[in-house]
Amino acid sequence: MVNYRICDFCGNLYAKRTNQMCENCEKVYLKLRSIVEVYPDTIVLDLSNQTGISVSRILSFVRSGYFIMKEGTIEIHK
Ligand SMILES: [Zn+2]
Repeated sequence: MVNYRICDFCGNLYAKRTNQMCENCEKVYLKLRSIVEVYPDTIVLDLSNQTGISVSRILSFVRSGYFIMKEGTIEIHK
């Protein structure tokens, strides 16, 4: 039996794993993370434009504690 849960970020059903998000959202998160790591001063709007990931999607990661919001930019939450 596989356990399913609803992804906190996109609302999709996925097979339960250790993460709080589905594979798709994890890819989105890792993509953002890799940019923020290299360019920590990138503002959220530019991040959104560069990646095609919507601002609200980025902010949902902030709300869940994956990133910390600074003045217009985000930081990886360690
Ligand atoms: Zn998801």
